[in-house]
Amino acid sequence: MAFTLHGIPVSRGIVIGRVHLLASAALEVPHYLMVVGEIEDEVSRLDEAIATVVNELYQLQSELPPNAPAEFAALVDLHRLILQDPLLSEEPGRLIRERRYNAEWALTNQLQAVVEQFEEMDNEYVASRRADVEQVVERVLKVLTGSAHSLSTVAAEAEAEAAAAKKNGTFEDFDPMIVIAHDIAPADMLQFKKHVFAGFATDLGSLTAHTAILAKSLDIPAVVGLGQASRLLEQDECVIVDGEAGVLIVDPSPIVLDEYRLRKRDLELANEKLKRLARMQTRTLDDVSIELHANIELPDDCEFANEVGATGIGLYRTEFLFMTRDSLPDEDEQFEAYRRVVTSMTGRPVTIRTLDIGADKTPNAARAEFGPGVFDTTNPALGLRAIRFCLAEPQMFLVQLRAILRATAFGPVKLLIPMIAHPQEVDAALVLIATAKGQLDARGLAYDRAMPVGGMIEIPAAALSLGMFAKRLDFFSIGTNDLIQYTLAIDRTDNAVAHLYDPLHPAVLQLIAQTIASATRLGVPVSVCGEMAGDPMLARLLLGLGLRQFSMHPAQLLAVKYEILRSDVVACEALAKKIVAAGEPDRVRVLVDRLRAA
Ligand code: PEP
Ligand code: MG
Repeated sequence: MAFTLHGIPVSRGIVIGRVHLLASAALEVPHYLMVVGEIEDEVSRLDEAIATVVNELYQLQSELPPNAPAEFAALVDLHRLILQDPLLSEEPGRLIRERRYNAEWALTNQLQAVVEQFEEMDNEYVASRRADVEQVVERVLKVLTGSAHSLSTVAAEAEAEAAAAKKNGTFEDFDPMIVIAHDIAPADMLQFKKHVFAGFATDLGSLTAHTAILAKSLDIPAVVGLGQASRLLEQDECVIVDGEAGVLIVDPSPIVLDEYRLRKRDLELANEKLKRLARMQTRTLDDVSIELHANIELPDDCEFANEVGATGIGLYRTEFLFMTRDSLPDEDEQFEAYRRVVTSMTGRPVTIRTLDIGADKTPNAARAEFGPGVFDTTNPALGLRAIRFCLAEPQMFLVQLRAILRATAFGPVKLLIPMIAHPQEVDAALVLIATAKGQLDARGLAYDRAMPVGGMIEIPAAALSLGMFAKRLDFFSIGTNDLIQYTLAIDRTDNAVAHLYDPLHPAVLQLIAQTIASATRLGVPVSVCGEMAGDPMLARLLLGLGLRQFSMHPAQLLAVKYEILRSDVVACEALAKKIVAAGEPDRVRVLVDRLRAA
């Protein structure tokens, strides 16, 4: 029977294929009592299952391709640490011994107890780790129950099927495989890269969950938050994952299938056409030149940035270099990474952002070095994050500043300070930059003495008092992701308030408009590097607000370029003014639609 499920689109594109059901996180586990003589064997069975998963996680980490997203290794690490915590590695054993539970029962019983403890904790960060604990337990349960539905088993089967189809000459007709699961652990996402899966859909998830972030970076159509998909669907059923609209169409009729085949083809053709824009200059219809920079997390990302013709790196999130390891990278290692980015961009400017750790981006290494208490506070997004943390740890900050300065000897580099709110933060950072320069002078090392220093405008206070920062800095970059979070008091990682996270809220638009206008008036270059800059639907609005420099994930760059090439700045300005003055969100949306259609 045909039906449609609606969820959250997290990764664009359309795929038509066959369902591969992955066992639900809430696996139905057997419950029975052990007889006394079997108890120690049962404890060993559980210990072996845990050891198997720990080994799997080590192996997964050792097999990570160099271009794997940086958060990925950190998450694999986190899952291993969770599993090795006595709460999971020892407590279920006690339940087997004292209550005679079978291993699966003991483990799920303990999971329930841990989840309840998490729920009682008044700590957002800890609460958000609950899903990680559930995913780890599910892995162990899969080993215990010998479930044939683990992602790697499905992947191996899928590969074998694809190989057989190829051999028989039927590969053309071979259906892409779509994984349907209750939830997918970020660790399992790597299988999507290695194998032949073409998309995925899950019951749980939100736009900002780790799994969604990884899906975007892997560029496979994905929809999450579908509620009951894994219960309602059957193995091998035909489905369409529409990553554009966020829907999953089950057992589609021939008419719907034909329609989607056409849409898919259109999307593919459109993507092919977009590729032709990569080498074109970005000029509007009325001949205004626009810079389109790329956001990157790792030096390897420069390849994609170059492929799409980025005119520079507008945001290099250096904290990802710190995410995948147990100790902080030293000056030489950081310098090597920064130098690689600079040389890869062959003379185009590279904006290196200093460490933005804290809140949802806290590397294990930083926890180990500075203690978890520094980061796991009640409101980490309002705590010792980004420049606040760097100024609290000046020795660590100086290491990064020297590494960035050394990279300036290899091409144009700008240094960007995240999360500024107070002028004294900028003053202190500038003093430390001068100190780092002095240290390099003493070592006789070359660097660009005139390296521009800019600030992220992502806290409303900074947007509202731009003048005092303009006196101190050479450029601004608006971080709309955090600007929205802090303006609307919405935790950008909290699923429960995701529906209130609104880039078109009149207050957000006023802050952006005011920042661009003030910076322009003060003669300080300004760009936008938050997600808004990569949304083609908003390109004309930003143009109309006076933005001339955009920075976004390379995957979005050509679609934004396409919008800009067919826009007239003067026409955009008139409507953008009306949008900012509109006041009511509904009116804003109507006008934004009109601007896009103009
Ligand atoms: C932002 O806040 O908009 C931004 C670009 O920085 P990040 O997403 O890394 O916080
Ligand atoms: Mg930010």
